[in-house]
Amino acid sequence: MILTNKSAVVVGAGIGGLSSAIYLASQGLQVTLVESNETLGGRANIISASGYRFDTGPSLLNYPWVFEELFSVAGKILADELELLKIDPAINFFWPDGSNLELSSDLFKLSQELERFDSGSSSGLLKFLSDARLKYDIAFSRLVTRNSHSVIGWFRSAGLVNLMKLGLFRSMDSQLGKYFKSQRIKEALGSYAMYLGGSPHQLRGIFSILPYGELHHGLWFPKGGIYSLVEKISELAQLNGVKIINSSRVERIITKDSKVIGVRTSNNAFIQADIVVSNVDVKSTQKLLNHDVRYTRKLRMTPGVITFYMGIKKKFDNVTHHTIFLNNEYQKSFKQIIDRGRIPDNPPFYISIPSNSDPDLAPKGSSSVFVLVPVPTLSHHRNVNWPATVSQIRASVKHRLSQHGISFEESDVEFEEIWTPVDWKNKFGLHDGSAFGAAHLIRQIGPFRPPNKSNSIKGLYYVGASTTPGTGLPMCVLSGKMVAERISKDFG
Ligand SMILES: Cc1cc2nc3c(=O)[nH]c(=O)nc-3n(C[C@H](O)[C@H](O)[C@H](O)COP(=O)(O)OP(=O)(O)OC[C@H]3O[C@@H](n4cnc5c(N)ncnc54)[C@H](O)[C@@H]3O)c2cc1C
Repeated sequence: MILTNKSAVVVGAGIGGLSSAIYLASQGLQVTLVESNETLGGRANIISASGYRFDTGPSLLNYPWVFEELFSVAGKILADELELLKIDPAINFFWPDGSNLELSSDLFKLSQELERFDSGSSSGLLKFLSDARLKYDIAFSRLVTRNSHSVIGWFRSAGLVNLMKLGLFRSMDSQLGKYFKSQRIKEALGSYAMYLGGSPHQLRGIFSILPYGELHHGLWFPKGGIYSLVEKISELAQLNGVKIINSSRVERIITKDSKVIGVRTSNNAFIQADIVVSNVDVKSTQKLLNHDVRYTRKLRMTPGVITFYMGIKKKFDNVTHHTIFLNNEYQKSFKQIIDRGRIPDNPPFYISIPSNSDPDLAPKGSSSVFVLVPVPTLSHHRNVNWPATVSQIRASVKHRLSQHGISFEESDVEFEEIWTPVDWKNKFGLHDGSAFGAAHLIRQIGPFRPPNKSNSIKGLYYVGASTTPGTGLPMCVLSGKMVAERISKDFG
């Protein structure tokens, strides 16, 4: 559908904002993208210093087909624009006793590794993969990529028989337990739940498609870092006629008679628009409305994070690109962080050393190191002394790394920047300092997730991690596609 006589303003140049701008421009709309920061990409941002290059947020790239589709809509071929490196082993999990489990998308290697780890467990693998594949196919062909107009419509679209196969009626932990007896294999595959805002006991079995997606489609890393993908996507937007205004904050989404008419920016400019697509967290968008409409529903958010960006004058050849360090109190850690608003004494954490795959990300002989520690959201964790908390967590991470033979001297640290949930909130408008947006509990997925269209203000739409379909780079790209489809239908 071509909509050349309509204009749209996209508020925020996160991945969802950029994607929606490209899809809308390809439908013929005049699109202006307004971003408060100087750099585009939102959470997927960049820190460049002292010869090091760090991706601020996302470090794992999956479902490359979603990006291929985005590039093709903009008239380009992803492979011509960007080199994607396959990361294998994909992720290495470590427990305090030194045992480890390496995931790979090579089925032979993976089944050998599962056998090494827990003899007999490879037999469950094929059954797990076949079940998760079925769920993945149903989810992507019928649910995740389609706008739902109502709860009934969503269920109808899924089909009753398929719904029974999705694992909505059992937990992710129980779903994994159908195929794997080893508690630690379940811990590794279930650890993804943290980023979705629930424990594997709270999230539904459908989320077993996450480890499946990584195993089946592989785990990728763009040469130059995730930010090189963001740069290419930003170029695509411009090539497709999107006008980008950076370093300009939208202060107000202006409405008249319950209809958007444009936005007002921090330099007091009014930009007229028939359509406003907000890439700002759904809850934070409410603060931009001068209309007395409030999104009152209480949303459970995913946790916050403390992130460390360290330039270290040392190579870590014994460490894989992505490593997750789990503790001995798996369930308790989920409870503490998500339900009780506490940071465990020895928190689980994730570390990425992208310069091991792409040496250009650090000076010769050095490493760019990214550490992510999940912590409670801000309202859940009040009166925190951040400097003391950060230094405690840093010491705990360093100690844990040294127990696994990964150590460095303080004098080797050439560069270091640390972001707490307060920084994440202030930099990108993230509601409650939540790193990944609205959680994916059953009451906040599918037709129950904040919709991508306002039901009280005509012309106001949402895109990004807190609306449909959900969090993560590929989901936000799909979110951009879905909101453009919705707009095309509404205005076409
Ligand atoms: C630490 C971390 C690690 C992650 N790891 C991964 C990973 O490995 N793989 C993965 O796929 N995903 C990962 N994610 C999730 C992924 O980054 C997000 O789901 C995704 O980037 C969110 O994109 P978004 O479209 O919601 O936009 P956001 O990134 O939220 O961007 C919103 C934009 O709006 C701008 N903005 C806000 N208010 C205004 C205003 N008033 N005016 C103008 N502009 C405004 C902000 O500055 C920002 O640029 C990670 C996230 C974090 C935080």
